[in-house]
Amino acid sequence: MNKSSFSSLGFADLAAGENLGRAELARILGATEPAEIEAVRAAAERVLLENCGDGVYLRGLVEASNACACDCFYCGIRKSNRNVHRYTLEADEIVACARQCAEMGYGSMVIQSGERSDKKFIDLVAGAVERIKAETRSEEEPEGLGITLCIGQQTYETYKHLYEAGAHRYLLRIETTNPELFAKLHPEDQIFESRVECLVMLHDIGFQVGTGVMIGLPGQTLDDLAGDILFFRQHDIDMIGMGPFIPHPDTPLGGEPFPDVKDRVRLALLMIAATRLALRDVNIASTTALQALDPIGREKGLKFGANVIMPQVTPQDVRRDYQLYPGKPCLEENAGECQSCLGMRIEFAGRKIGYHQWGDSLHARKRRERTKA
Ligand code: SF4
Repeated sequence: MNKSSFSSLGFADLAAGENLGRAELARILGATEPAEIEAVRAAAERVLLENCGDGVYLRGLVEASNACACDCFYCGIRKSNRNVHRYTLEADEIVACARQCAEMGYGSMVIQSGERSDKKFIDLVAGAVERIKAETRSEEEPEGLGITLCIGQQTYETYKHLYEAGAHRYLLRIETTNPELFAKLHPEDQIFESRVECLVMLHDIGFQVGTGVMIGLPGQTLDDLAGDILFFRQHDIDMIGMGPFIPHPDTPLGGEPFPDVKDRVRLALLMIAATRLALRDVNIASTTALQALDPIGREKGLKFGANVIMPQVTPQDVRRDYQLYPGKPCLEENAGECQSCLGMRIEFAGRKIGYHQWGDSLHARKRRERTKA
């Protein structure tokens, strides 16, 4: 047996293990040989299909505002970046995007923005959510569109208000679960523990909770990434959105050396696979950041264990103003073009689109059943 076939067998055995621990996850993330990577990918795809089926769920993405009160060192729309033209959509525009999602059969949408906690903005989002729930009901979707919010850290009262308005999922990325690395990526007033507390609050209120991390950060180790996956498990996370770190030139981290793109894409794909192997029944998004580095990055994400895609529905005239990282794809396509392009990409990955479905994670559905019992 030559060395490469021996090592790929080792990875197949490793990836087949249940209850993967930190050391095993770090080893999986360190796969470099094509046979090793394929062994991990095949195992992750098998776990996905066995646990969640072959459906890919769509969440139409509306970037409602690029105004932000925070100054994260890696983000293109941080408040100190004077090169950004700031915008906030009107409630009517957000609702129009939602109608478009419903018409295209997306089943769910994500309303995303910079972090703002001013009353005017929270009222705008809550009002839009209420209207969307009322105005997108149909025979196919009697409960209206499923709504995920991604508008940053808020108070318990604000989260509850948004939940009662009708949003049922919330995505708050932790970015890294290594507190020291977190401190290097954020100004002093952004505290790691507060973000963890927000995740606990969101669960407590009843949201399905999502989080995620950046992959390939300066100073980040494979052990850190393995720790991120264990954090997802420990905090009973329902959905994961993560992608490769891409330095933005207008930020303090813009000058960081950018490792080989292929290495970064490989690590991001292995992170999706390792998360699928460890958590099994969660939803994992194949993010646009992957496609920014690799033209078929999102299809590859699906093949490595992801089952959610977020097509763009943000109005085209402001899409360019919402660039957390450079090279964001799908800036010019209209929503219909995004839909047909994604349909082809998902079919190419051998999977089916879950039209007109909320596509809640199996993990969240199991918890709901347990609570009812
Ligand atoms: S990452 Fe989010 S909170 Fe941080 S600056 Fe960007 S938009 Fe604001």
